[in-house]
Amino acid sequence: MEYKYTGIILDKRDVGETDRIYSIFTLENGKIRVLAKGVRKANAKLAGFLENFTLAEIFIAKSQGMGKITGSIVVDSFGEIRKNLSILQDAFGAVKIFNKLTKEENKDQIIFELLKSYLETLDSLALQKKEEKTEAVFLGFLFKLFEELGYKMEINDCLKCGSKIKEGNNFFDPKQGGIICEKCSSESGGKIKVNSNSIKIIRIFFQNSIKSLVKLKTDQKDLNNLKIIIGEFLKWIA
Ligand SMILES: [Zn+2]
Repeated sequence: MEYKYTGIILDKRDVGETDRIYSIFTLENGKIRVLAKGVRKANAKLAGFLENFTLAEIFIAKSQGMGKITGSIVVDSFGEIRKNLSILQDAFGAVKIFNKLTKEENKDQIIFELLKSYLETLDSLALQKKEEKTEAVFLGFLFKLFEELGYKMEINDCLKCGSKIKEGNNFFDPKQGGIICEKCSSESGGKIKVNSNSIKIIRIFFQNSIKSLVKLKTDQKDLNNLKIIIGEFLKWIA
């Protein structure tokens, strides 16, 4: 049987003499792993349609075991991203984290749309040469991805005492995935300071689409703070 999927290429790995195994996040079936036979031969055209983070329609023959790719039609190669080295690195970084955190054959249309929307936003920022906007969009993508995967960061109430988080000295606890107020912070170790502005930005991430985050005005200081927070959070999730 041959099946048609709409998918985003997450990763590829060489196997055998001329073959490759691809990880693809599909709309129809979540992340799948499939074999492309002979794809590394000099005259093989298929490889060009299966570059990392390309959005494509992919035809897969499947009977027993791993499916085999029989063809691919590129829907969007996100060509502008590929012309800009720093934005290209963002795309690879985001897709790598996405690949690491998603499970195989776990259909999730929201996550598919989130990744697609992130790549479209990057592509348009690359076209407009707005590299300075990519960092907030990248962070927003990760916060939204974590939320969708069931790791939403608790930012409204203190994890320990339950009181409303106010402006001032608050701390992030990666183990519990949330914020601890100043009063409770003396009792728990391994604290990371959270700027009040960072909390506001996280709230904006949760309430807005990826595409609208390009309008967000941010300070580098807050972005750096958010990078530390997401880095620590990611260590715990992974
Ligand atoms: Zn507290």
